[in-house]
Amino acid sequence: MVPSASKAGLLDRGIANLPGIGPAKAELLGKELMIFTLGDLLYSYPFRYVDRTQFHRIIDIMPDQGNVQVKGKLVNLVVKGENRKKRLVGRLRDDSGAALELVWFRGVNYLDRTFKIGEEYVCYGTVQEFNGRLSIAHPEMELANTGQSEAAATFEPVYASTEKLNKRGLDTRGRRKMIRGILDRLSEADLPEMLPAYLVQELRLISHSAAVRTIHLPGSQAELDAARRRLKFEELFLLQMRLIQLKVNREAKVAGYTFDQIGDRFNRFFHDHLPFQLTGAQKRVLREIRQDLGRGIQMNRLLQGDVGSGKTMVGLMTMLMALDNGFQACMMAPTEILAFQHYESIRAYLEGMDLTVAFLSGNVKGRARRAILEALAEGCIDILIGTHALIEPPVVFKNLGLAIIDEQHRFGVKQRAKLWKKNLPYPPHVLVMTATPIPRTLAMTAYGDLDVSIIDELPPGRTPIKTVHFTEHRRERVFGRIREEIDKGRQAYIVYPLIEENEKLDLLALEEAYDEMLHKFPRPAYQISVVHGKMKPEDKDYEMARFKNGETQIMMATTVIEVGVNVPNATIMVVVHTERFGLSQLHQLRGRVGRGAAESYCILLSSVKLSKESRQRINTMVETTDGFKIAEADLKLRGPGMIDGTQQSGILQMRIADLAQDGRILAVARERAKDLLQRDPNLRLEEHLLLRSYLDRHFSTVKGWSLIS
Ligand code: ADP
Ligand code: MG
Repeated sequence: MVPSASKAGLLDRGIANLPGIGPAKAELLGKELMIFTLGDLLYSYPFRYVDRTQFHRIIDIMPDQGNVQVKGKLVNLVVKGENRKKRLVGRLRDDSGAALELVWFRGVNYLDRTFKIGEEYVCYGTVQEFNGRLSIAHPEMELANTGQSEAAATFEPVYASTEKLNKRGLDTRGRRKMIRGILDRLSEADLPEMLPAYLVQELRLISHSAAVRTIHLPGSQAELDAARRRLKFEELFLLQMRLIQLKVNREAKVAGYTFDQIGDRFNRFFHDHLPFQLTGAQKRVLREIRQDLGRGIQMNRLLQGDVGSGKTMVGLMTMLMALDNGFQACMMAPTEILAFQHYESIRAYLEGMDLTVAFLSGNVKGRARRAILEALAEGCIDILIGTHALIEPPVVFKNLGLAIIDEQHRFGVKQRAKLWKKNLPYPPHVLVMTATPIPRTLAMTAYGDLDVSIIDELPPGRTPIKTVHFTEHRRERVFGRIREEIDKGRQAYIVYPLIEENEKLDLLALEEAYDEMLHKFPRPAYQISVVHGKMKPEDKDYEMARFKNGETQIMMATTVIEVGVNVPNATIMVVVHTERFGLSQLHQLRGRVGRGAAESYCILLSSVKLSKESRQRINTMVETTDGFKIAEADLKLRGPGMIDGTQQSGILQMRIADLAQDGRILAVARERAKDLLQRDPNLRLEEHLLLRSYLDRHFSTVKGWSLIS
């Protein structure tokens, strides 16, 4: 049974005709929170709940307590400072006799008018210690003894809001009223169960309508937990259904070239040229890829592996499979330096194999370019390596069978589309390699329509990098360590942060640091290279080359060295102002050392005073070199939207599921979605009809990574 149109329509109605909401307020809600319809309102869940029965006594609060809820009388309220330093400072005293300071830096005048000295408030926020005094900045405030009608509710929902909304009475309290208004008008039929009955039963989920009601008006913690679990599962399951549908549809529609030969090139390389034994993980991944390529369906595979896990070799051997089947292959990297490095290492691996490998970037011009394009079109080039330049329209392959994309996140949607058009009748197979590991939950969502291979093993013989944390005042010690390494014939990186907003200041700091370094490491005994993002590419390349050749021993650089630079003789890296780097960035940076057999060091320099989050980041770096663990920690600290490689995907903005927390629910959701689609690919079964219409209505805009559906 599909819900009738008129009933389903109730949630589609605009919010303007809710009691107490006129056109102006409705417009504001749309602008501030993207809430336009009753459904939008209902499906914007509370982000936390206040347990009205639990209060902290102010006298017991510790500086590191975190979030607290207190109830007390506002005994003082004054505006202090002027202009940009203006702030509103209040004091709240509770029955314990102690007082807590409350501070607001925004909306000072408005809040000054709103709060009343002498009234009792419930106040919620994060405690911090400032000059020995405990305070809360921007606490959530509510009069303590209103809402008599809600007296029974122990769990009160708190909704996302903005200052503008608060001013118009559309704060948490106003939202609760609206939600109640809607819930009163809704019948069961307005919130039909879209999940198949057997799933609801087997997973012991409460119904959709019960969950939606409870999430807004929970009676107890247990009820709330059940509602949360249900809605999280629902959200993750529906998304997985859509992503897997995209994949299934694509595979049904987009045929691919069948590579069923393992031929001369692959075998000869494997037996005579492979300079080492493949790791177990590399072998497993190659098997997965080979199976894909033999199916007659276009491959869209994501290859994940930590820095140095040997993705390039897997890429190369996949390219050989393409060549063995009469196709050309290409590999793209996001920067010229990286692309050229791939070109050099692949040429070295293929030495004596009698294959033609060419390099192309925007800087290859004139006659050289024409020669490459011609040879490519005639099929005289087997492997083309380069930058985005490879997928520009003038670049025509004779018969491209495989495209490898290194560090895929820098490739945009349009570029992917161009890539797909590089061969006819079928698009080339696509293997994307990530620079940094992505947590499982993110990979399953942001790349949920791709197949994923993971290299979870490093080649043997690597000595792990020793990472230590030093504060600024031990700089001399750090210079000493650098000197020791250089005196052993090694090289050193010193990395400085460069952040767009204060680029000029940072460059100045880099210059100052350079002067200091010249003083500490005088010429001619020591030679120093400097590289930063503001340099001309040719100057940058020149300095990089000098360092690579060992002409300079110290490379002072901003994060331009982050990706892929390979100088095995560099055994020490010092990161300056470590607190200004993100975790995955630090991990990438650290991967520049420890690339040879010698023991390597990474010194994280920071100021003495560190925020809790910076300290956690630094501790994580000291504790582990496992990129997957670091990615997980990063996800927990920063949330999914900030993780490299996943920004392009709106998929990650979820209503209730949390990819940092809900890994297990997600795994179940994906499994169930897969099973279901295997059994009933087109959702034709009676028990799946509602699910199908629900997906069509609400999830048709979700696009997977491959963007073909
Ligand atoms: P990634 O691209 O995954 O960061 P690379 O492909 O650049 O890693 O490999 C890092 C280094 O490890 C290279 O010098 C490569 O030759 C070497 N390597 C790759 N696979 C193996 C292996 N199975 N055994 C030994 N060394 C390997
Ligand atoms: Mg690489």
